[in-house]
Amino acid sequence: METILSINNLDKKYGNVHAVKNISFEIKKGNVYGILGPNGSGKSTTLGIILNVVNKTSGNYSWFGGTINTHEALKKVGAIIERPNFYPYMTAYQNLKLVCDIKGINYRKIEEKLELVELLDRKDSKFRTYSLGMKQRLAIASALLNDPEILILDEPTNGLDPQGIRQIRDIIKQIASLGTTILLASHLLDEVEKVCSHAIVLRKGEILYVGSVNAMTANEGFFELQTDNNNALKEALAVHPDIEKIEESGDKILVYPNTPIEGGALNRYLFDKGICINHMVLKQNSLEEQFIQLTAKKSSN
Ligand code: ADP
Repeated sequence: METILSINNLDKKYGNVHAVKNISFEIKKGNVYGILGPNGSGKSTTLGIILNVVNKTSGNYSWFGGTINTHEALKKVGAIIERPNFYPYMTAYQNLKLVCDIKGINYRKIEEKLELVELLDRKDSKFRTYSLGMKQRLAIASALLNDPEILILDEPTNGLDPQGIRQIRDIIKQIASLGTTILLASHLLDEVEKVCSHAIVLRKGEILYVGSVNAMTANEGFFELQTDNNNALKEALAVHPDIEKIEESGDKILVYPNTPIEGGALNRYLFDKGICINHMVLKQNSLEEQFIQLTAKKSSN
């Protein structure tokens, strides 16, 4: 899978505030990543650094395999890291026309992107008449005008009502389904769970977890398996009545049961189907609990 962004030992200090502590992760094409952490955990700082608006203290990052410089790379990135800001007395269409003029984009993209964010029927309304959710959707349309490889969003649903939140989440999923890689920052576990395929969990600037969202939230725990013939393994698992989902992670197969299964029973089931396991580990995940506690602490502040 193509790498869009590599972050290696990135570190940021604001005076004596250590905002980001030696973090490393990779963004692969086609996935939806959520940087998840309570307020103050370093999410915006991380996004600011990779977008070249915050200076790193040490470490490095490289866009698109390091084949082009950051300035060129950022032309292939669509980002919304601040509250949407457009001219209030101009219509949505006129505002996007201005963006097209600045970036040298064909006007025909405007209607395509307005349709994607469900604002085409309101294209001739003035920006100041828009609700917060509509403003946010217009910002997404604007960031997509040049068909970026990756869309970056910082707390995309902050301040929105439940209907607005749902709309934004559906639109993000729709954009991802069209092949655009997405990286968003959120303090909501629920949001990352609903929208993202992968998560990077931060606490006080440190990475607690990097990996698939399924593995992060698996209540029953999950098995990591490996055999000499993973295809036969996958076929056998697919017909097991208590297995909800299987996933590949490098040369390992991750197995998510919908009810607790004993390792021995799973091994016997596979052995009866002629499959010998080279590697089997049951992983229990306490991250969800940990995270709920973290965010609970934060919201009672
Ligand atoms: P998050 O996006 O997860 O809420 P931030 O990246 O905004 O976290 O902040 C991480 C830490 O860095 C916090 O302690 C915050 O107060 C501090 N911080 C962020 N921006 C600045 C700044 N410009 N100057 C000093 N401290 C900052």
